[in-house]
Amino acid sequence: MIAGHFGFAAIVKSREKKVPLWSLMLATVWLDIVFIPLLAMKIETFKPVPGATGSYGGNYIYADYTHSLLGALVVSAVFGLFFAPRWGKRCAVVLGLVSFSHWVLDLVVHRHDMPLLPGNLGNLPRLGFGLWQFKTASVIVELLLVVLGAWCYWQAANAVTTAAQRGRSRATISAVLILLCGVAVLAMDAMGTFG
Ligand SMILES: [Zn+2]
Repeated sequence: MIAGHFGFAAIVKSREKKVPLWSLMLATVWLDIVFIPLLAMKIETFKPVPGATGSYGGNYIYADYTHSLLGALVVSAVFGLFFAPRWGKRCAVVLGLVSFSHWVLDLVVHRHDMPLLPGNLGNLPRLGFGLWQFKTASVIVELLLVVLGAWCYWQAANAVTTAAQRGRSRATISAVLILLCGVAVLAMDAMGTFG
C-alpha cells in the first residue's frame, strides 16, 4: 500500500492548498520511512504469510513501534511539529493528521498484525481488517484512491487557474503525473517489487 497513500495525499492537497504536495506525500509514508531503519536493526520485523501468492500484502508486518496505535500517534505528532515553526500551526496539524492517516489506511489492509501499544506491550489483541487477503479488492481500493486523488487535485488546481491558460495546462500535467506515478507504483507493488 504505497500508491493508495499517495492518492490520499493528492486528495488532501486539493483541500489544503497551502501545504506543499511533497510534504503531504512524505507525511503519508512517514511511518514506513521510520520503519526502514528499525527493520534494518531488527527491532521491527516481518514474516511471509504461509501460502500467500505473490508478495503484495503477503507478509505479517511486525512494525510494533511505528505501526502501533500509540507509536503512530507519537511519530505523526513529531512529524507535524517539525514543520510548525516554518509553515505554521495549520500546516503542522494537517501534516500530523495525514501522517496518522497512514495507520488508518494500513489498518484496513494489514492482517491482524498492528498492536495498540509500542512493542505490543501487555500483549493486547493486534488489529488489521486483512483486506490484503483479497488481492484484487486491495488493488481496486488503491487504484480508486489514486484516481480520486488525481481527479481532486486536477479539479482544485483548475479552479484556481481558470484565468491563466498556462496554469491550467500545468494543473492537467500535474494531475496526469499523479495518476501515472500512482498506477506505476501500484503495478510494481502488485508484482512484488517492494516485497
Ligand atoms: Zn505502513
